[in-house]
Parts: sequence; C-alpha cells; structure tokens
Amino acid sequence: MYGRDLGVPDAASLREALIRDGIKNEAVLDAVVSVPRELFVPAAFRERAYENSPLPIGLHQTISQPTVVAMMTEALDLNDRSKVLEIGTGSGYQTVILAKLCRRVYTIERHKPLQAEAETRFQRMGLHNITVRAGDGSKGWPEQAPFSRIIVTAAALDVPATLLDQLDEGGIMVVPVGLEENLQHLLRIRKLDGDIETEDLGPVRFVPLISDEDPA
Ligand code: SAH
Repeated sequence: MYGRDLGVPDAASLREALIRDGIKNEAVLDAVVSVPRELFVPAAFRERAYENSPLPIGLHQTISQPTVVAMMTEALDLNDRSKVLEIGTGSGYQTVILAKLCRRVYTIERHKPLQAEAETRFQRMGLHNITVRAGDGSKGWPEQAPFSRIIVTAAALDVPATLLDQLDEGGIMVVPVGLEENLQHLLRIRKLDGDIETEDLGPVRFVPLISDEDPA
C-alpha cells in the first residue's frame, strides 16, 4: 500500500513524507506542497488537512491521500503541452495539482454539488486552465478528445474502453482497477503505435467509479 498513516502536521513535513514514500519528481513535489489542502476539506477536518491520509468531503466521497495524489501525478509524466482528462473531480485537490503541471485539465464529477464547490475553489484560486463538467465521466469527453493524459480517481472494474479510445497515440492513462476495495491496483497504460502497454503500480484503495449504466 502506498503511504503510511504518518502524522504530518504541516506542509513542510508533507514534502519529507512524500519523499519517504518514494516520490522523486521535483516538479511534482513542488506542486503538491504548494497547494493548501485545507482549502479542499470541510471545516471540521481542517486541522487534519496535512495528515497524509484520505479525508471525507461529503456525499460518501473522500479527498485522496497526498502520497497517492503525488504518485498518480508522477506516473502521468506531465509537461506544459499535456491535455489532461480527469474523471472524479471530488474536492478538486488533485485537479489543481495537475493544472500546475500541464496545459489544460478537463475534469468531470458526477455529484453536482461537489462539482460546483470545486469550480468555486478553482475560480477563487485564479486558475484558468481547468474546464469542469458534471456528469458520468466513464463516457469521457468526446468533444475534447483525444487527450494526451487521462487520470481516473475512482476505481473501475476494468480499464474503461471508452476512455482508452479517447487517449491519444503516445498517451498515458492512470487508473485504479479492481472489484473489491482491498484488491484494487493502480495501472499505468501507454498507447504506443496502436499497442496497449500496461504496468501495475501497486495496490491502492479508491471509492468506486459509478456509471449511469450501472444497476441501481
Ligand atoms: N481526486 C479527488 C478525489 C476523488 S474521490 C480529490 O482530490 O478530492 C472520487 C470521485 O469520483 C468522487 O467525487 C465521485 O463522486 C467521483 N465519481 C465516481 N464515479 C464517477 C463517474 N462515473 N464520473 C464522474 N465522477 C465520478
């Protein structure tokens, strides 16, 4: 499992904790520690914002653990030309970190209230390279495809074929895949010359990706 339950009291020691957890990319470390996580958690959890652990954000959803956010961001290998699709905006914490490292992020959240709150945060932070939509992200964003990078921050049962179709040649997708909470693996998928290359980055735990087509 990535990350341990380290008590991280402030942003400075967050960097040390991320390094201990194996994050190496300096730009990723800079981006993660530059984003005030307390702005993304409900008031009741603000004191715990710098713990290296997931926290509730309402509607049974969670803000991811900083180590997991950093690890997924590092795995995407972003640059200033990257056009990123993110499925599962949640609080918008991961979105903001992506936005600091790429050209533009298109992000989709199925819970309208979470989407609206995240959008307000992006505006307050003066970030203009994020486009937000409420809806079922498992369908991707066909009008904006292809994407050079795709990140899914909820666990899918299998690599979503629709999203793979919207990944550009040479692109990278990072997605947690697995049926049960304790059996999910983070996969990094590369599309190269029409071939699909899959790499297992290890076990993770995410809330499920819920598609509109799923039985109620
Ligand atoms: N990265 C987020 C945490 C995401 S939790 C953060 O940093 O805060 C996963 C999110 O995915 C939840 O908000 C959940 O509502 C959303 N989600 C689940 N299935 C989805 C789908 N099909 N389309 C869009 N969002 C989805």
